[in-house]
Amino acid sequence: MTDAAPRGFWLAGREATGEESFEVTNSWDGRLVGTVSVPTEAQVEEAVAAAHAVRDEFAATPAHVRTAALDHVARRLTERAEEIALLISAENGKPVKWARGEVGRAVSVFRWAAEEARRFNAGEAQRLDTDAGGTGRLALTRRFPRGAVLGIAPFNFPLNLSAHKVAPAIAVGAPIILKPAPATPLSSLVLGEILAETDLPAGSWSVLPVPNDRMPALVQDERLPVISFTGSGPVGWSILDSAPRKHVTLELGGNGAAVVLADWSSEQDLDWAAQRIATFSNYQGGQSCISVQRVIADASLYERLVPKVVAAVEAQVTGDPSDDATDVGPLVSEDAAKRVEAWVDEAVEAGAKLLAGGKRDGATYAPTVLADVPAGVTIACEEVFGPVLTLTRVDGEEAAFAAVNDSPYGLQAGVFTHDLQTAFRAHRALETGGVIIGDVPSYRADQMPYGGAKQSGVGREGVRYAMDDYTYERVLVLTGL
Ligand code: NAD
Repeated sequence: MTDAAPRGFWLAGREATGEESFEVTNSWDGRLVGTVSVPTEAQVEEAVAAAHAVRDEFAATPAHVRTAALDHVARRLTERAEEIALLISAENGKPVKWARGEVGRAVSVFRWAAEEARRFNAGEAQRLDTDAGGTGRLALTRRFPRGAVLGIAPFNFPLNLSAHKVAPAIAVGAPIILKPAPATPLSSLVLGEILAETDLPAGSWSVLPVPNDRMPALVQDERLPVISFTGSGPVGWSILDSAPRKHVTLELGGNGAAVVLADWSSEQDLDWAAQRIATFSNYQGGQSCISVQRVIADASLYERLVPKVVAAVEAQVTGDPSDDATDVGPLVSEDAAKRVEAWVDEAVEAGAKLLAGGKRDGATYAPTVLADVPAGVTIACEEVFGPVLTLTRVDGEEAAFAAVNDSPYGLQAGVFTHDLQTAFRAHRALETGGVIIGDVPSYRADQMPYGGAKQSGVGREGVRYAMDDYTYERVLVLTGL
């Protein structure tokens, strides 16, 4: 899959090319996947001006027009699913079976957005005559877009996390400028192709692969009052610092924990937990913000769980991402794999036991299991963003929950327990945006509220929650009734 001519980007709903271009390569075999044209400063200015100018018109677009566009995108993504999955796999290096799942999730995001747009903002009436001064008055509340949205997407789910920015914006009638990650712009540009088939007003959407060094100007542009960012902590927090008066949501990293409590102890329980842990510490090469990085297991079952986890991790098939049989492909780049290698080596040198993996081949890092990791080494504190899990033994539920919370991050946690009371205690105790009972932290449905506590971010995605973020409530007080 190669492109000779640079492919265009989407400027205010139409395809355009700039003066420069960059290459997108496949991290498995280094082949060229495509070249992408870079918008000039004048073209970026044109897109921002168009988004700003169309904001009132777009906000007033009837719901049936916006839902028709969202339904259309869902339908066309479905029709083009296999082609897009192959493209995601090629640009990102993720195994094609996971890429197919990603396309399915993006379809679901657009479908949900269409459904939500049908019922969003019907308004709410509130009586005011409960006080003498309110006699003859009634309040009506409705939500209105804050203005145009700057959506910034990461490389790891290039289509679905772009969908999470674009679909809620269309659903509420907020113009959006989508900025895909430099490693993975191609699937977002195909999304642009499909958006171009709709009747959305010109200017209401753009897909612009703007180079990172030109992003600060966009971040600070007052015509883009909402920023929805998914990516790494350092970039995310710097955006918030540089645009403190904007409405900024940050979906950042995590070092997700899976807790296996004492009651989850039958052979069948442990087999299931081990399988889920092995799969979701390695899917996308561990490059998911909610992949399993830390396994925290009760001492009563730790020795039985460990060999099952190691066996399940070793059974993961590593290889060519375009092969249907592959579970774990390369990381996004060789540099990323070298960083993971350095963190594992540091832990092993400090005394951690290497129970599986620990090897790198180019951009591919073998699924890895570490036990007895000393506190203070990088992998014990930071997001590894690679196919590595650490095993920790604890005594009892309280110690397990304390271990989960002993992290600067708080995105999601998984708790393997059968006990309802424990589930409620976990919900109360864990400082994370989500608690998943009976499974790993990696479970996400696209309509549920999703986001972080602590350094994992601010704000929530999940279609309706992003729609809330992109809008604000405005009250209308009627007098003389
Ligand atoms: P990144 O921070 O390097 O890049 C994210 C996006 O920000 C890219 O589009 C990039 O081009 C852009 N960017 C870079 N510099 C910028 C600047 N100065 N101003 C504005 N934008 C800039 O992240 P990544 O490597 O693409 O993604 C991996 C990270 O994303 C991991 O930390 C992962 O945990 C996190 N992530 C979080 C979630 C979530 O929902 N919480 C989901 C997926 C990924």
